Amino acid sequence: MSHERLQMIPVVKSLPAEGSSADKFRARKPSQAEAEAAIRTLILWAGDDPSREGLVDTPRRVAEAFREYFKGYGEDPSEILDRVFEEVEGYQDMILVRDIPFHSHCEHHMAPFFGKAHIGYYPAKGVVGLSKLARIVDLYARRLQTQETMTAQIATAIEETLEPRGIAVLIEAEHMCMTMRGVQKQGSTTLTTQYRGLFRDDPAEQVRFFTMVKSPGL
Ligand SMILES: [Zn+2]
Repeated sequence: MSHERLQMIPVVKSLPAEGSSADKFRARKPSQAEAEAAIRTLILWAGDDPSREGLVDTPRRVAEAFREYFKGYGEDPSEILDRVFEEVEGYQDMILVRDIPFHSHCEHHMAPFFGKAHIGYYPAKGVVGLSKLARIVDLYARRLQTQETMTAQIATAIEETLEPRGIAVLIEAEHMCMTMRGVQKQGSTTLTTQYRGLFRDDPAEQVRFFTMVKSPGL
């Protein structure tokens, strides 16, 4: 009997690990005036007059809006997921939170993309409050993102804190950079998934997750 075995190694796209570039990046934060000046430049670049009445306060408003759009940079997932409930009367089955709405911005065009996230996991050492999962989605959505990275980051954050037996994340989203420019594919949706633990090992679990996500609402 040969000791050499050909192992099937799944091809996994390498994604930046949680906490890699974005969290370590510490540039000098520009002042509000500098941010507003940059937006005035973009208005000129678009072909309009930043000093006309309708646009004169726009740089200030856009700079303020950016604080909201990108507030996920200042947040720590382990603080959101710090409280784990261990008393669940032996509950072992899948916990699924579906239809978590989110709004994000693609890192290639800074155009919005938005949709719904669905998270399923099999608890091991405990469960978290359901609203915490929605906050984790929001934390990663409020950064410059790709849908693939965001899907992996959500799975990793939950995996590292909850250490579940398995975690599945499905994100469906519409990208305005696809709808408004380039190929202009109106209404097309992009789906991304991450399966970890028993979801990765057992395709039947992936089917069960997907069926529960797509089953009619109550
Ligand atoms: Zn884009």
